[in-house]
Amino acid sequence: MSKPIVIRNGLVIDGSRAEPLKADVAIDEGRIIEIGNDISKGEAEIVDATDKVVSPGFIDIKTHSDWTLPLMPQAESKIRQGVTTEVIGHCGYSCAPALPDKVDALSEYLSPSAPWLSFKETNFNDYLNHYPALSVNAIHLVGHNTLRLMTMGLEDRPPTPDELSHMKGLLKEALASGALGMSSGLFTAPGSFSETEELVALGKILEGSGASYFTHLRNEGNNVFDAIQETMEFSEQVGVHVQIVHMKLSGLDNWGGARKAMNLFSEARNKGISIDCDIYPYTAASNPLRNLMPAWLQEGGIEATLTRLVNPDMRKRLRNEIDQEGLNNFGRIPSWEAVRISISPNLPEYAGRTIASLAEERGIDQFEMALDFIVEDRGQTRVLVDSISEADVRAFVQDPDVMIGSDGNSVSPEGTTGQGRPHPRFYGTFAKVLGHYSRDLGLLSLQDAIYKMTGSSAKALGLRNRGLLKPGFNADITIFDPQSIAERATYEDPHQYAAGVDTVLVNGIKTLQGGEHTGALAGKILRRQQDFSNSKLI
Ligand SMILES: [Zn+2]
Repeated sequence: MSKPIVIRNGLVIDGSRAEPLKADVAIDEGRIIEIGNDISKGEAEIVDATDKVVSPGFIDIKTHSDWTLPLMPQAESKIRQGVTTEVIGHCGYSCAPALPDKVDALSEYLSPSAPWLSFKETNFNDYLNHYPALSVNAIHLVGHNTLRLMTMGLEDRPPTPDELSHMKGLLKEALASGALGMSSGLFTAPGSFSETEELVALGKILEGSGASYFTHLRNEGNNVFDAIQETMEFSEQVGVHVQIVHMKLSGLDNWGGARKAMNLFSEARNKGISIDCDIYPYTAASNPLRNLMPAWLQEGGIEATLTRLVNPDMRKRLRNEIDQEGLNNFGRIPSWEAVRISISPNLPEYAGRTIASLAEERGIDQFEMALDFIVEDRGQTRVLVDSISEADVRAFVQDPDVMIGSDGNSVSPEGTTGQGRPHPRFYGTFAKVLGHYSRDLGLLSLQDAIYKMTGSSAKALGLRNRGLLKPGFNADITIFDPQSIAERATYEDPHQYAAGVDTVLVNGIKTLQGGEHTGALAGKILRRQQDFSNSKLI
């Protein structure tokens, strides 16, 4: 066992919104044992935190790092922002269970997001038990889209009673294995084929286990308030904590709606509904290019989609729908200049280009260009869509009840995860809130900013003994320079680590030291039954 550590002379911001306090923090056996002045612990290793902030490690409540952690367990882009815990398996997508004869279907389904992952048959329990050692703690969710794919493929219809009970069985197995809850991705197939009733039926299983529900709303564009209403209806029938992930108002016609959304959430909370949301602090969203098209296009999988896309009548129908309603889930965008290719596994030379510029180069219509690109890259392309207003982002950033989650993967500039031009939020989310929005723009105090990524998230998750600096709590700790913390990643050049984070401890083990990764893999898989306060054993 390593010797005790005393972090000296730092400005302690404890994650509860309390005022900063100059104090020492002592750690032993992976836990915080004392916070106070002039702590002396004999043989202890001293970490000098003069002029630095000492805060709980950040909880990234919304990530897809299950797509990258198996390749890069050091979680480089997150550790270097001060993140010590990631919640993975979001938006209906989980990498397990993978049932016999359905492994290829899952692999194909997740290929636009994680073409580098290999899949094999597994239940949720084996998946968690064989998860690689990581630098961060990981909280796993099971995805509704994955459960549906395993049960009834990509079919656009309600489940039969047998199929529903099959999904319930898979959900129970995942929850019994330690998944914190279920995520849904109602914006895309096959989640988009489900009715609220199906979600409520699965929600009852969550309720029975004291588990939680995380939802990517059915619509984040022109019908966003209908989608919020659907979530409220779910909440009225199912007594679990509900987290609306990466809350946004997408599309020109919906800008300015942040305050209305936050008011709805606080009214619901006043009525006793447990509902929260999180955001990433950027105006661009990231998605597979094919998801910008109506859900019907994707019924039956990639081959069926590609076949429809080369049919001129189908193209005409798509154009009419998009002209009238805007892009699926995104609403009306200013132009195809707002859609930038992020990662294109089959056509990597186009990363960073906009659909508008490609259309100009080829001398063709921009909409036809978007469809051509889906065909040419066989539906594998991810794009960034600049579709959110900065004023809404700032309104969410300023609200202490809205949490910060990156919606980004742990990546590093080297190796497979360094390919393409991912969203800068992978590298910069937390540093941007602390540096740009709190320090530079003064939109919120440092203690409020830290609360939104520590204590508030731990409370929403029901996470036990993490998220605050408190004696007895696990020693997940981030030490950063409040003067220099900054995002360095940009849309043009995203593979840039954040600046200003000096030291990160995960479960009391130094994982970042002097801004460099130590290689430590001290993260734990946090299981519902042991690490959360709300859960009931099943
Ligand atoms: Zn999502």
